[in-house]
Amino acid sequence: MVEVIHDVACTVCGCVCDDLTLHVTGGRINVAERACSLSEPWLLEQTDASVVSTQVEGKKVALEVAVRSAAEILRESRAPLVYGLSSSSTPGQRAACRLADQLGATIDTTCHAPSVMALQAVGESTSTLGEVRHRSDVVVYWGSNPMKSHPRHVERYVDAPGMFVPGGRRDRHVVVVDVERTATAEIADRFVQVEPGSDFEVLWALRAAVQGVELHENSIGGVPRADLLAFAERLKTAQYGALFFGLGLTRHGVPKANVEALLRLTTDLNAHTRCTAHRMRTAGDMAGADSVLCWQTGFPFSVSFSRGYPRYNPGEYTANTLLESGEVDAAILVGSEGVGKLSRAAQAQLKSIPVVVLDSPGAKTCWTPAVHFTTAVYGIHRPGTAYRMDEVPIPLRKVLDSSLPSDEEVLAAIGHSIAAQS
Ligand code: SF4
Repeated sequence: MVEVIHDVACTVCGCVCDDLTLHVTGGRINVAERACSLSEPWLLEQTDASVVSTQVEGKKVALEVAVRSAAEILRESRAPLVYGLSSSSTPGQRAACRLADQLGATIDTTCHAPSVMALQAVGESTSTLGEVRHRSDVVVYWGSNPMKSHPRHVERYVDAPGMFVPGGRRDRHVVVVDVERTATAEIADRFVQVEPGSDFEVLWALRAAVQGVELHENSIGGVPRADLLAFAERLKTAQYGALFFGLGLTRHGVPKANVEALLRLTTDLNAHTRCTAHRMRTAGDMAGADSVLCWQTGFPFSVSFSRGYPRYNPGEYTANTLLESGEVDAAILVGSEGVGKLSRAAQAQLKSIPVVVLDSPGAKTCWTPAVHFTTAVYGIHRPGTAYRMDEVPIPLRKVLDSSLPSDEEVLAAIGHSIAAQS
């Protein structure tokens, strides 16, 4: 018997498309309507994962034994680290925060710190993606190739007709700014190729042009002056402009300064028209991790509870820095996907200390952690909430039955066990 489930949200990228229809039979998803090239293989490989798998030092043990071992490690730790969170969901992120508070630990996420710090410094003119769809007549992708990284972004927010842009793609002018011609550049009306490491100069020149300041150089960052002036004019004369920026903007130069320049350009454009800036968030619920940490601690990442109250200091309390300097003696990873983002020295340190890992079925770490839990996937095995790239919370539905515990349940059980052992 095939069960057809409508309006399912996908968590594979920051678009969190919530219009998928899944056909489920025999504990598997067999058909995923409206899934894109990124999400379809992932959805079709999900199973009901009914075998609970918990390990201590690589050996299978009962869940309660693993919980007790994890609690012992964390209780004896003097400087624990809670890290990851982007593959979780609001309930798991909240539980991780509670455990960090209980332990006096440092908690850090895999979020894109330069972007968050830039918007803390200069503010952000933003909106929901719905507003972009219904109002924007100029869309810019800067350092982002959504045709590859967010395959349905163009379909949903550029091609789709909106209330004030009834012709959809026909009524919109699309610009791609990047260091090389990408798949998204192929479908754009204008491609602006910048030299690697020149984003800041180009953004600053655009700011000058938008403010009517004369440009003297013939070419800035590889972009001819005439093209820059035409681009600035198109942005100023838009009814509503939307600037989407991706990791390409932070790959060269000073990442935070580049994002700040783009956010300041957006602010400048609001003297002439309505313009908004948006981060092209990548895989996982990073927006959720930032948001949950913000409403639990007041800060989005790099938070230390070592003095019994939350303190925020990017750099000092960043997971990578703490591990590199040997200031962590035990860690709990809520999803191990962030390990690859750590430096080699930080990864080596992580492998030398007791680590508790909570991961989804099929995820593998490149070493054997002290304790390993396989946990349910939100939006597949459990309901939850994921924050879309515009920070709109989207409800996640359960589509497959599973006896796996959620990371929220495992984290809460570890917390109770630590309290009982103390
Ligand atoms: S664009 Fe992103 S959220 Fe939408 S279906 Fe594809 S992977 Fe999922």
